[in-house]
Amino acid sequence: MNLLDFTKPELERLFMENGQPKFRALQVLKWLHQKGVRDFSKMTDLKASFREFLSRELEIRIPEVIQSTKSSDGSVKWLFKLDNGEVIESVVIPEGHRVTACVSSQVGCAIDCSFCATGNQGFSRNLTLGEMLGQMWAINFLSNVGDVTNVVLMGMGEPLLNYKNLKEFLKFMLMDHAYGLSRRKVTVSTSGIVPFIEKLKVDCPVSLAISLHSGNNELRNQLVPINRKYPLEQLMTACNGYQESAPRKFITFEIVLLDGVNDSIQDAFAISELMSDYGINAKFNLIPYNPFNGGIYRKPSEKRIKGFQMKLQEKGYVSTVRKTRGDDVQGACGQLAGVVNNRISKAVSSEKTKIARVL
Ligand code: SF4
Repeated sequence: MNLLDFTKPELERLFMENGQPKFRALQVLKWLHQKGVRDFSKMTDLKASFREFLSRELEIRIPEVIQSTKSSDGSVKWLFKLDNGEVIESVVIPEGHRVTACVSSQVGCAIDCSFCATGNQGFSRNLTLGEMLGQMWAINFLSNVGDVTNVVLMGMGEPLLNYKNLKEFLKFMLMDHAYGLSRRKVTVSTSGIVPFIEKLKVDCPVSLAISLHSGNNELRNQLVPINRKYPLEQLMTACNGYQESAPRKFITFEIVLLDGVNDSIQDAFAISELMSDYGINAKFNLIPYNPFNGGIYRKPSEKRIKGFQMKLQEKGYVSTVRKTRGDDVQGACGQLAGVVNNRISKAVSSEKTKIARVL
């Protein structure tokens, strides 16, 4: 049994069933997540007999690190091999005192956004709690960039479609005996799975980021196909509701700017109108498209990026153009693509070809 797959209550139950007091769970979690100790024999404030029990019954297994590649800007992309041979990616981004870990939640992604390298790989399965925590543990204790201060669920996958494990993962991020981060410093990024945005608001309201990309349903249907199921009207209503519980009192909207597709002044205007119609306190992250092998779009010119940003700023919204970090190691936004045993019909490829033709 992998200890990383246990929630705190499950661990407490296991220990109590084996004659130990409940607080042993917190002691073990502290050794593991705060001190980075994986060897039970080194957990010196535990009784020898309990350490023997732990070594006999449990292991602490993180996904195998098969590569860590440093970009010229200091970002490091990690490749992890899972038990079935599939490969997932995480990125750690140091910036001043801040160290941000970008964690994956699924092997591939079923949402299939047309500009995304992960979506392009297809979908295999949800990551287990242990596989998600394992990425965080490895980044925190094996990389030489300092302790992680911020976590973003923006790696491979749609985190809200792995809700059960996401919720438990978030608890570990916030728990004092594990990573102890504030809710402001933990961000879930979603393509807009409306029912789970509403659930997250109640269960664990951390910072929220929405992959928006367009303020127009017709175009968003093409860029983010889940928009056909949860169109902008539903998504914006859910965002408005989330604001009451959001730790930052604003929601971040990400827009990958695609040359000639969604990067005009009119596109920026439509987005600002959408925000004002639904009373959303928004902040924008503009992400110039990162080309990847097999991608069908181009990166816009600086002039178009600037024009888009200025329109949003003119309407009163903080809008930053995200520095593309790690793009020389294919670790930038929308570029993460491990090795995925795609289980989705290849029908989606022909859909993409159609979009490419229209463009
Ligand atoms: S952008 Fe996010 S939701 Fe869309 S396909 Fe990529 S990983 Fe999935």
